[in-house]
Amino acid sequence: IDVNLGAYTNEEGEIKGVIVLLHDITAIRRLEKMRSEFVANVSHELKTPITSIKGFTETLLDGALEDPDISRSFLTIINEESDRLNRLITDILDLSKIEQKKMLLKIEELNFSKLIKETVRIVREEARAKNIAIYLPTEENITLEADRDRLQQIVLNLVSNAITYTPENGEVTITLCEREDKSVEMIVADTGIGIPPEHLPRIFERFYRVDKARSRESGGTGLGLAIVKHLVESHHGTIHVESQEGKGTTFTVILPKYQPPKFLG
Ligand code: ADP
Repeated sequence: IDVNLGAYTNEEGEIKGVIVLLHDITAIRRLEKMRSEFVANVSHELKTPITSIKGFTETLLDGALEDPDISRSFLTIINEESDRLNRLITDILDLSKIEQKKMLLKIEELNFSKLIKETVRIVREEARAKNIAIYLPTEENITLEADRDRLQQIVLNLVSNAITYTPENGEVTITLCEREDKSVEMIVADTGIGIPPEHLPRIFERFYRVDKARSRESGGTGLGLAIVKHLVESHHGTIHVESQEGKGTTFTVILPKYQPPKFLG
Protein backbone atom coordinates (compact mmCIF):
# COMPACT_ATOMS: atom_id res chain seq x y z
CA ILE A 1 0.00 0.00 0.00
CA ASP A 2 1.17 3.52 -0.87
CA VAL A 3 0.41 6.09 1.84
CA ASN A 4 0.21 9.85 1.21
CA LEU A 5 -0.23 12.20 4.14
CA GLY A 6 -1.24 15.85 3.91
CA ALA A 7 -2.44 18.53 6.29
CA TYR A 8 -4.39 21.68 5.57
CA THR A 9 -4.27 24.81 7.62
CA ASN A 10 -6.26 28.04 8.02
CA GLU A 11 -4.85 31.52 7.38
CA GLU A 12 -3.26 31.58 10.84
CA GLY A 13 -1.36 28.39 10.09
CA GLU A 14 -3.40 26.20 12.43
CA ILE A 15 -3.89 22.67 11.26
CA LYS A 16 -7.55 22.20 10.45
CA GLY A 17 -7.49 18.79 9.00
CA VAL A 18 -5.45 15.88 7.77
CA ILE A 19 -5.77 13.97 4.53
CA VAL A 20 -4.64 10.38 4.31
CA LEU A 21 -4.55 8.78 0.88
CA LEU A 22 -4.20 5.03 0.74
CA HIS A 23 -3.44 3.52 -2.66
CA ASP A 24 -3.67 -0.17 -3.15
CA ILE A 25 -0.78 -0.73 -5.56
CA THR A 26 -0.69 -4.52 -5.31
CA ALA A 27 -2.29 -4.87 -8.74
CA ILE A 28 0.20 -2.47 -10.33
CA ARG A 29 3.17 -4.18 -8.66
CA ARG A 30 1.89 -7.59 -9.69
CA LEU A 31 1.57 -6.40 -13.28
CA GLU A 32 5.09 -4.95 -13.24
CA LYS A 33 6.46 -8.19 -11.83
CA MET A 34 4.63 -10.24 -14.46
CA ARG A 35 5.95 -8.00 -17.20
CA SER A 36 9.58 -8.23 -16.12
CA GLU A 37 9.26 -12.00 -15.66
CA PHE A 38 7.86 -12.23 -19.16
CA VAL A 39 10.78 -10.26 -20.61
CA ALA A 40 13.22 -12.54 -18.76
CA ASN A 41 11.40 -15.63 -20.04
CA VAL A 42 11.28 -14.36 -23.61
CA SER A 43 14.99 -13.56 -23.58
CA HIS A 44 15.80 -16.99 -22.23
CA GLU A 45 13.56 -18.76 -24.75
CA LEU A 46 15.08 -16.81 -27.66
CA LYS A 47 18.61 -17.39 -26.44
CA THR A 48 18.31 -21.16 -26.35
CA PRO A 49 17.94 -21.71 -30.13
CA ILE A 50 20.40 -18.91 -30.91
CA THR A 51 23.06 -20.51 -28.69
CA SER A 52 22.50 -23.79 -30.44
CA ILE A 53 22.67 -22.24 -33.94
CA LYS A 54 25.84 -20.38 -33.03
CA GLY A 55 27.49 -23.47 -31.49
CA PHE A 56 26.83 -25.72 -34.47
CA THR A 57 27.87 -23.01 -36.96
CA GLU A 58 31.16 -22.46 -35.15
CA THR A 59 31.89 -26.18 -35.05
CA LEU A 60 31.22 -26.35 -38.79
CA LEU A 61 33.56 -23.42 -39.46
CA ASP A 62 36.21 -25.00 -37.22
CA GLY A 63 36.53 -27.93 -39.59
CA ALA A 64 33.45 -30.12 -39.22
CA LEU A 65 32.44 -28.81 -42.66
CA GLU A 66 34.96 -31.26 -44.19
CA ASP A 67 32.79 -34.22 -43.18
CA PRO A 68 29.64 -34.29 -45.34
CA ASP A 69 27.66 -36.50 -42.88
CA ILE A 70 28.39 -34.31 -39.88
CA SER A 71 27.73 -31.19 -41.96
CA ARG A 72 24.34 -32.50 -42.99
CA SER A 73 23.30 -33.38 -39.45
CA PHE A 74 24.52 -30.06 -38.03
CA LEU A 75 22.78 -28.09 -40.78
CA THR A 76 19.58 -30.02 -40.11
CA ILE A 77 19.76 -28.95 -36.47
CA ILE A 78 20.49 -25.34 -37.44
CA ASN A 79 17.52 -25.41 -39.79
CA GLU A 80 15.19 -26.84 -37.12
CA GLU A 81 16.36 -24.33 -34.53
CA SER A 82 15.72 -21.48 -36.98
CA ASP A 83 12.17 -22.78 -37.52
CA ARG A 84 11.74 -22.90 -33.78
CA LEU A 85 12.94 -19.31 -33.44
CA ASN A 86 10.45 -18.32 -36.09
CA ARG A 87 7.58 -20.07 -34.29
CA LEU A 88 8.57 -18.48 -31.01
CA ILE A 89 8.58 -14.99 -32.48
CA THR A 90 5.21 -15.53 -34.19
CA ASP A 91 3.70 -16.82 -30.93
CA ILE A 92 5.18 -14.00 -28.84
CA LEU A 93 3.88 -11.36 -31.27
CA ASP A 94 0.46 -13.05 -31.35
CA LEU A 95 0.29 -13.14 -27.59
CA SER A 96 1.31 -9.53 -27.21
CA LYS A 97 -1.28 -8.43 -29.77
CA ILE A 98 -3.98 -10.40 -27.97
CA GLU A 99 -2.95 -9.09 -24.57
CA GLN A 100 -2.94 -5.49 -25.69
CA LYS A 101 -6.40 -6.14 -27.11
CA LYS A 102 -5.07 -4.85 -30.42
CA MET A 103 -6.37 -7.85 -32.21
CA LEU A 104 -9.65 -7.03 -33.83
CA LEU A 105 -11.89 -10.01 -34.19
CA LYS A 106 -13.58 -10.46 -37.55
CA ILE A 107 -16.81 -11.95 -36.30
CA GLU A 108 -18.90 -13.97 -38.74
CA GLU A 109 -21.31 -16.86 -38.54
CA LEU A 110 -19.40 -20.10 -38.95
CA ASN A 111 -20.08 -23.78 -39.28
CA PHE A 112 -18.01 -25.05 -36.35
CA SER A 113 -18.30 -28.72 -37.36
CA LYS A 114 -16.90 -27.94 -40.80
CA LEU A 115 -14.11 -25.76 -39.41
CA ILE A 116 -12.99 -28.62 -37.12
CA LYS A 117 -12.93 -31.02 -40.05
CA GLU A 118 -10.82 -28.60 -42.13
CA THR A 119 -8.44 -27.95 -39.25
CA VAL A 120 -7.87 -31.61 -38.51
CA ARG A 121 -6.66 -32.05 -42.10
CA ILE A 122 -3.59 -29.98 -41.18
CA VAL A 123 -2.50 -32.51 -38.54
CA ARG A 124 -3.75 -35.73 -40.17
CA GLU A 125 -0.29 -36.72 -41.37
CA GLU A 126 1.25 -36.17 -37.95
CA ALA A 127 -1.44 -38.39 -36.40
CA ARG A 128 -1.07 -41.06 -39.08
CA ALA A 129 2.69 -41.21 -38.47
CA LYS A 130 1.97 -42.21 -34.84
CA ASN A 131 -1.04 -44.34 -35.77
CA ILE A 132 -3.32 -42.12 -33.70
CA ALA A 133 -7.00 -42.25 -34.63
CA ILE A 134 -8.82 -38.90 -34.71
CA TYR A 135 -12.58 -39.02 -34.17
CA LEU A 136 -14.49 -36.00 -35.47
CA PRO A 137 -17.75 -34.64 -34.07
CA THR A 138 -20.82 -36.45 -35.34
CA GLU A 139 -22.97 -33.31 -35.25
CA GLU A 140 -22.72 -31.84 -38.73
CA ASN A 141 -24.20 -28.38 -38.53
CA ILE A 142 -23.31 -26.61 -35.33
CA THR A 143 -22.85 -22.91 -36.00
CA LEU A 144 -21.60 -19.99 -33.94
CA GLU A 145 -20.34 -16.45 -34.30
CA ALA A 146 -16.55 -16.19 -34.14
CA ASP A 147 -13.39 -15.07 -35.91
CA ARG A 148 -12.57 -17.87 -38.33
CA ASP A 149 -8.76 -17.74 -38.13
CA ARG A 150 -8.73 -17.40 -34.36
CA LEU A 151 -11.20 -20.23 -33.84
CA GLN A 152 -9.09 -22.37 -36.13
CA GLN A 153 -6.03 -21.51 -34.03
CA ILE A 154 -7.85 -22.65 -30.86
CA VAL A 155 -8.79 -25.98 -32.44
CA LEU A 156 -5.37 -26.48 -34.05
CA ASN A 157 -3.41 -25.83 -30.84
CA LEU A 158 -5.58 -28.18 -28.78
CA VAL A 159 -5.66 -30.99 -31.33
CA SER A 160 -1.97 -30.76 -32.13
CA ASN A 161 -1.12 -30.88 -28.40
CA ALA A 162 -3.40 -33.91 -28.05
CA ILE A 163 -1.41 -35.66 -30.81
CA THR A 164 1.97 -34.55 -29.45
CA TYR A 165 1.29 -35.76 -25.92
CA THR A 166 -0.32 -39.06 -26.93
CA PRO A 167 1.89 -42.08 -27.60
CA GLU A 168 1.55 -44.31 -30.66
CA ASN A 169 -1.75 -46.12 -31.27
CA GLY A 170 -3.73 -43.70 -29.13
CA GLU A 171 -6.94 -41.81 -29.80
CA VAL A 172 -8.00 -38.19 -30.04
CA THR A 173 -11.74 -37.52 -29.88
CA ILE A 174 -13.36 -34.19 -30.67
CA THR A 175 -16.99 -33.69 -29.74
CA LEU A 176 -19.27 -30.77 -30.27
CA CYS A 177 -22.66 -29.94 -28.81
CA GLU A 178 -25.06 -27.07 -28.40
CA ARG A 179 -25.96 -26.21 -24.85
CA GLU A 180 -29.26 -24.87 -23.59
CA ASP A 181 -27.78 -21.51 -22.58
CA LYS A 182 -27.05 -20.45 -26.19
CA SER A 183 -23.47 -21.66 -26.10
CA VAL A 184 -21.47 -24.29 -27.90
CA GLU A 185 -19.21 -26.83 -26.21
CA MET A 186 -16.18 -28.41 -27.86
CA ILE A 187 -14.31 -31.21 -26.10
CA VAL A 188 -10.86 -32.37 -27.21
CA ALA A 189 -9.98 -35.60 -25.40
CA ASP A 190 -6.89 -37.75 -25.79
CA THR A 191 -5.62 -41.05 -24.42
CA GLY A 192 -2.16 -39.62 -23.82
CA ILE A 193 0.37 -39.18 -21.04
CA GLY A 194 -1.86 -36.86 -19.01
CA ILE A 195 -0.84 -33.98 -16.76
CA PRO A 196 0.10 -34.52 -13.09
CA PRO A 197 -2.39 -32.74 -10.80
CA GLU A 198 0.22 -30.38 -9.30
CA HIS A 199 0.92 -28.96 -12.79
CA LEU A 200 -2.71 -28.56 -13.87
CA PRO A 201 -3.34 -25.10 -12.38
CA ARG A 202 -0.35 -23.62 -14.22
CA ILE A 203 -0.83 -25.20 -17.61
CA PHE A 204 -2.22 -22.01 -19.25
CA GLU A 205 0.69 -19.83 -18.13
CA ARG A 206 3.11 -18.51 -20.71
CA PHE A 207 6.14 -20.79 -21.20
CA TYR A 208 4.91 -23.29 -18.61
CA ARG A 209 5.67 -26.89 -19.56
CA VAL A 210 5.36 -30.07 -17.57
CA ASP A 211 8.34 -31.64 -19.28
CA LYS A 212 10.64 -29.12 -20.94
CA ALA A 213 12.61 -31.74 -22.85
CA ARG A 214 9.52 -33.38 -24.32
CA SER A 215 8.00 -30.05 -25.30
CA ARG A 216 11.24 -28.95 -26.99
CA GLU A 217 11.60 -32.25 -28.79
CA SER A 218 8.14 -31.84 -30.27
CA GLY A 219 8.91 -28.27 -31.33
CA GLY A 220 6.66 -26.66 -28.71
CA THR A 221 7.05 -23.05 -27.64
CA GLY A 222 5.21 -23.31 -24.32
CA LEU A 223 2.88 -20.57 -25.51
CA GLY A 224 0.18 -22.60 -27.26
CA LEU A 225 -2.21 -22.91 -24.33
CA ALA A 226 -1.67 -19.31 -23.17
CA ILE A 227 -2.71 -18.21 -26.66
CA VAL A 228 -5.71 -20.56 -26.67
CA LYS A 229 -6.94 -19.25 -23.30
CA HIS A 230 -6.66 -15.63 -24.42
CA LEU A 231 -8.44 -16.34 -27.70
CA VAL A 232 -11.26 -18.20 -25.95
CA GLU A 233 -11.66 -15.35 -23.48
CA SER A 234 -11.61 -12.71 -26.20
CA HIS A 235 -14.63 -14.58 -27.62
CA HIS A 236 -16.22 -14.38 -24.13
CA GLY A 237 -15.80 -18.11 -23.64
CA THR A 238 -14.24 -20.37 -21.03
CA ILE A 239 -11.71 -23.22 -21.12
CA HIS A 240 -11.32 -25.99 -18.63
CA VAL A 241 -8.95 -28.96 -18.34
CA GLU A 242 -9.19 -32.34 -16.68
CA SER A 243 -6.47 -34.92 -16.75
CA GLN A 244 -5.36 -38.24 -15.36
CA GLU A 245 -1.71 -39.13 -15.45
CA GLY A 246 -1.04 -41.97 -17.85
CA LYS A 247 -4.69 -42.03 -18.95
CA GLY A 248 -5.34 -38.87 -20.90
CA THR A 249 -6.38 -35.25 -20.96
CA THR A 250 -9.64 -33.49 -21.77
CA PHE A 251 -9.96 -29.82 -22.68
CA THR A 252 -13.47 -28.33 -22.67
CA VAL A 253 -14.08 -25.06 -24.47
CA ILE A 254 -17.41 -23.27 -24.10
CA LEU A 255 -18.12 -20.42 -26.49
CA PRO A 256 -21.23 -18.26 -26.72
CA LYS A 257 -23.21 -18.88 -29.88
CA TYR A 258 -23.59 -15.14 -30.44
CA GLN A 259 -21.00 -12.43 -29.85
CA PRO A 260 -22.15 -9.16 -28.28
CA PRO A 261 -22.44 -6.28 -30.77
CA LYS A 262 -19.48 -3.92 -30.91
CA PHE A 263 -20.03 -0.42 -29.60
CA LEU A 264 -18.27 2.55 -31.07
CA GLY A 265 -16.36 4.96 -28.90
P1 ADP B 1 3.95 -26.61 -25.71
O1 ADP B 1 4.42 -25.80 -26.85
O2 ADP B 1 5.05 -26.98 -24.75
O3 ADP B 1 3.08 -27.76 -26.10
P2 ADP B 1 1.52 -25.45 -24.60
O4 ADP B 1 1.27 -24.10 -24.02
O5 ADP B 1 0.74 -25.84 -25.79
O6 ADP B 1 3.07 -25.56 -24.85
O7 ADP B 1 1.27 -26.51 -23.44
C1 ADP B 1 1.90 -26.32 -22.19
C2 ADP B 1 2.24 -27.66 -21.56
O8 ADP B 1 1.04 -28.33 -21.20
C3 ADP B 1 2.98 -28.63 -22.47
O9 ADP B 1 4.38 -28.43 -22.43
C4 ADP B 1 2.60 -29.98 -21.86
O10 ADP B 1 3.43 -30.26 -20.76
C5 ADP B 1 1.19 -29.74 -21.33
N1 ADP B 1 0.12 -30.22 -22.24
C6 ADP B 1 -0.61 -29.48 -23.12
N2 ADP B 1 -1.52 -30.23 -23.75
C7 ADP B 1 -1.39 -31.48 -23.27
C8 ADP B 1 -2.06 -32.74 -23.51
N3 ADP B 1 -3.06 -32.84 -24.40
N4 ADP B 1 -1.63 -33.83 -22.80
C9 ADP B 1 -0.63 -33.73 -21.90
N5 ADP B 1 0.04 -32.59 -21.63
C10 ADP B 1 -0.34 -31.48 -22.29
